[in-house]
Amino acid sequence: MTHYDVVINGGGMAGAMLALGLSQLSQADGSALRIALIEKSLPEQNLHPGFDARSIALASHSQDLLQQLGLWPLLRELATPITAIQVSDQGHIGQVNLQAQDYSVPALGYVVELNPVGQLLYQQLQQHPAIDLLCPAQIQAWQQAPDKVTVTLDGDDQLSDRQFTTSLLVAADGNHSQIGRQLNLPRRQFDYQQSAIIANVQTAMPHQNRAFERFTPEGPIALLPMSGGRCSLVWCVSNGRANQLMDLDETAFLCELQQAFGYRLGRITRTGTRHCYPLVLDEVTRPWHHRVVLVGNAAHLLHPIAGQGFNLGLRDVAALVEQVRQVLSSVGASSENPTNLATPISVANHDDIGGYQMLSRYWQSRQADQAELVGMTSALALLFSNDHPVLAAGRNLGLMTMAACSSLKHMLAWQAMGKR
Ligand SMILES: Cc1cc2nc3c(=O)[nH]c(=O)nc-3n(C[C@H](O)[C@H](O)[C@H](O)COP(=O)(O)OP(=O)(O)OC[C@H]3O[C@@H](n4cnc5c(N)ncnc54)[C@H](O)[C@@H]3O)c2cc1C
Repeated sequence: MTHYDVVINGGGMAGAMLALGLSQLSQADGSALRIALIEKSLPEQNLHPGFDARSIALASHSQDLLQQLGLWPLLRELATPITAIQVSDQGHIGQVNLQAQDYSVPALGYVVELNPVGQLLYQQLQQHPAIDLLCPAQIQAWQQAPDKVTVTLDGDDQLSDRQFTTSLLVAADGNHSQIGRQLNLPRRQFDYQQSAIIANVQTAMPHQNRAFERFTPEGPIALLPMSGGRCSLVWCVSNGRANQLMDLDETAFLCELQQAFGYRLGRITRTGTRHCYPLVLDEVTRPWHHRVVLVGNAAHLLHPIAGQGFNLGLRDVAALVEQVRQVLSSVGASSENPTNLATPISVANHDDIGGYQMLSRYWQSRQADQAELVGMTSALALLFSNDHPVLAAGRNLGLMTMAACSSLKHMLAWQAMGKR
């Protein structure tokens, strides 16, 4: 039976980048890892669940991580830099402006469209000799044993009933993770009773690589700069209001948007197709089990208010790659026969890939970051999506204080860049 060092279930942003990051690692130190990536949807499908019409902001720290994973040279061409961020509150004078040049960085972050990123990642996945891309396929059954996990696939004629073993099974299968649900791990959930409407919009004035976050009594609106002078809209409102906005024709929708966003970019002239996402917090509070770990949205689904969901997921990916790298270096140091494609890695000191020590070290390195970001986004979502007059006044006071106090402003900039 084929043995893989790592099997990843789910090939969205987290799973695809993990597979490529691990494969890069095996090239770097001469040892070869065997990696399988299982994905249920074909990459060319327009409505691929992992690579849909969304555009996301990558913090500047994520660019550093992508560089370490060997992925930034691929993505650079698709990324629009954010050189300034303006935070404002509708109907109040408080406003904060952050500029990349004040922090001596070329950009505070970058915006990428998930669909073209997905196409690019899949080209790489298909070409890499260390990665078996098992797609379209799903896991039919899996069993944990002390030294391995056995996986049986369900897929087309070629893949159906195929069975293999792995040292580590990674669940990167998104918020409704099949593996996460089957393990019944402890989780914290909260329904914000809000939805995010996304669309690409065209404005009369050029965005000049500025991103805008505007708080309104109905909820926050973000406009992120994109290529071709377009902006990516993320508008968070109550579920009822979202249904109304989704039902409007283009002219009426633009009119509502203009009223809420104002004229910072002049007239908003056009909008592309609108998509709507229900917003919930879903955090797995201990996202690992024997030889199984959850990463990305499988481990934590956040409110998009601070644009941090995938930035957090990417830090999971980078931390897991680092733990595997450490195991490989200890194997290299303790073994005269370096691992190769034909020999599954097996280390006598129980510190192997997917072993208890590796996964507990992984979680020690991730726990505080996950808890902090879940707490921060939930607090922001509740504070900034609330039309209570006391909270609105507090918000405005907060923005004015931040604008006047450079250390508070720096904290906000550091947070936006993902640096800690
Ligand atoms: C409106 C909105 C705006 C956002 N803005 C930002 C932002 O600005 N910055 C930011 O960092 N993040 C942002 N996010 C969050 C970001 O989009 C997600 O965190 C990220 O895309 C999640 O990637 P993932 O790979 O973890 O999960 P997913 O994208 O859910 O991928 C899961 C993959 O697993 C596959 N799969 C599912 N089930 C199975 C199965 N049983 N078997 C095999 N395969 C399976 C799916 O097909 C999919 O490909 C935003 C989210 C939303 C909704």
